[in-house]
Amino acid sequence: MACMDRRLNGHLDEKYNNGNTLFLRNAGANAHCLLQSISEAVSEGKIDEILVLGHTDCGAMKVVFDAIVNHNSSYSSAIKDRIIHPFDDFEYLKEVGKKFNAMNQDEKASAEAEARRILEKRNVEMQVGFLKELTKSFPGVKVEGGIINLSNIDVPASDDHLEYSVVFSRECGSKFNDMCNLAHTDPYKTYVLEASSLKEAAPDLQMAVELFHIHDIRLVVPDKSLGASISSDFEWAKSMSSGFLKGSNISIEQD
Ligand SMILES: [Zn+2]
Repeated sequence: MACMDRRLNGHLDEKYNNGNTLFLRNAGANAHCLLQSISEAVSEGKIDEILVLGHTDCGAMKVVFDAIVNHNSSYSSAIKDRIIHPFDDFEYLKEVGKKFNAMNQDEKASAEAEARRILEKRNVEMQVGFLKELTKSFPGVKVEGGIINLSNIDVPASDDHLEYSVVFSRECGSKFNDMCNLAHTDPYKTYVLEASSLKEAAPDLQMAVELFHIHDIRLVVPDKSLGASISSDFEWAKSMSSGFLKGSNISIEQD
């Protein structure tokens, strides 16, 4: 399980996809929202290890910081419920929030950097704890967590003038590079969602649209057996065209 962040694509392909890996990706590597996907994979005996991979400079954790420390309440309810509320009881962050306004710019910058590091770690611990509980009747399933340090990965920096895309696939073992090829997108400009259905990843898609202003959404079919199910994802996305996907380009890309 990993975050949808574009900067992880190549690294995940190289380090974690040995051809035997089932990936799930959403905003912040959040297991709660992927409960259905995970439960199915575990109960079908497909999995002997779950690795939750957070990363440094995570956009989802920036949102948590902004909402709780800066008291920014403008996020949509989908983002609040899914990304922010799980951290509501995190005392450390509340304490930072109390002191933050009285700090000078330098102090704020270092307090934010530290808080975000702690949040990233806390997030992975929360997901791992949740998954250990979820899989406790499956003793053959090992759950571990880790954090990918983006400063060790060579990827182009973000640029507001670049056009980014979201590529969604039903969970499968394909390399992200191949998915992006199929979608005709540049892997460095592509956020990747992978779940048992696009509806399951709806809050993450909403985050990509609202926070990163991405309006190019491509559903890919890297595995022919997923073709029919992608059609139902496409129908669902179309039904959201008058809602949060208003103005977005939604397409299916396949061979
Ligand atoms: Zn992230």
